[in-house]
Amino acid sequence: MEYKICTRCIMDNSSDPLITFDEQGVCCHCKAYDNAIADLPKTAEEKKIQFDKLVNEMKNAGRGKEFDCVLGISGGVDSAYLAYVAHNAGLRILAVHVDAGWNTDIAVDNIKKMCSKLKIELHTIVVDWPTMKELQRAYMFSGLPNIDVPQDHAFLAATIAYARKYNIKYMLNGSNFATEGILPSNYGYSALDFRCIADVYKKCGRGKLSLRKYPKMNLFEYAMVYMAKTRRINLLNYVEYSKTKAIEVLHHEFDWNYYGGKHFESRFTKFFQSYYLPKKFGYDKKRAHISSLIVGGELTREQGLVDMQDYSEYNEVQMLEDRDYILKKLDISLEEWEYIMSTPNKTEDDYRNNKRLVKLLVLAKEALHR
Ligand SMILES: [Zn+2]
Repeated sequence: MEYKICTRCIMDNSSDPLITFDEQGVCCHCKAYDNAIADLPKTAEEKKIQFDKLVNEMKNAGRGKEFDCVLGISGGVDSAYLAYVAHNAGLRILAVHVDAGWNTDIAVDNIKKMCSKLKIELHTIVVDWPTMKELQRAYMFSGLPNIDVPQDHAFLAATIAYARKYNIKYMLNGSNFATEGILPSNYGYSALDFRCIADVYKKCGRGKLSLRKYPKMNLFEYAMVYMAKTRRINLLNYVEYSKTKAIEVLHHEFDWNYYGGKHFESRFTKFFQSYYLPKKFGYDKKRAHISSLIVGGELTREQGLVDMQDYSEYNEVQMLEDRDYILKKLDISLEEWEYIMSTPNKTEDDYRNNKRLVKLLVLAKEALHR
């Protein structure tokens, strides 16, 4: 196969087998990005108008209640900066942090420093480790690309549970088109589908497991509670958002420490996306992250190509250290690891799932939320 790389971003056909290009050599992800941002405000003035409108909506809905909005806070740059922006706009935030056993100390420390200085109420949910461990372990043996599903599902389910408990209508989300506009959908199946999670455990887990202590949510609850009663606001799409500037602000205001690449706040996620995905599937999230920054205007394509070759943030030695740490924590031997890496790759269709319903719900959600 002839190697091809997009002329606008740096997505290529070696990291994404399903990529297509037009006559100008621009890839399908750039096209999808342009479509997705078509309805969003472009200039600083337009953004400001929309931002103020959304903030007022949230304040009105929060009248007489304890909070205006709930925010899932991971310790990453996007959600931390979002908390800062929302706080400055006068919103009363309930911050929810889920600890699924992989958070780096730096990330946890960052969250605490920021929330305490801004007096943001922070609730931390520690997922029962023996349960989390067995689920995560089963995913390691599943042959699926997205083995971060047990963590992602718990994050979402716990945040939604808080929105319901405190009767909060608005959920702030750090998703944004400035830093994450490009991510091929084949890189991983949705974390929404609890039927798939349960079947992965049934086929790849170690015996019976009670999921009583795991924050979970079925699709009916997702539709009835999350989609019908709460509104998700991707507020960062309505400010001039730059990752570099956000890191500077957070560092200056809260003595915030940067821990490296995107999603490196979780040691598992860091290893999963930098080692497991590229080595086993050829998928490269770093390439997608850099491409997002290029189309978002933060990086030039030339600089992106240079950054792509820079491994100083996470080198092979650190990767192997993380591998050994993760394997030990999950009771997986090196022989088993070799089996995991050499066994045939699978997709969600190898497991029971609710794929069609998930697709429908995701489409409906995109239409409902801004
Ligand atoms: Zn492209």
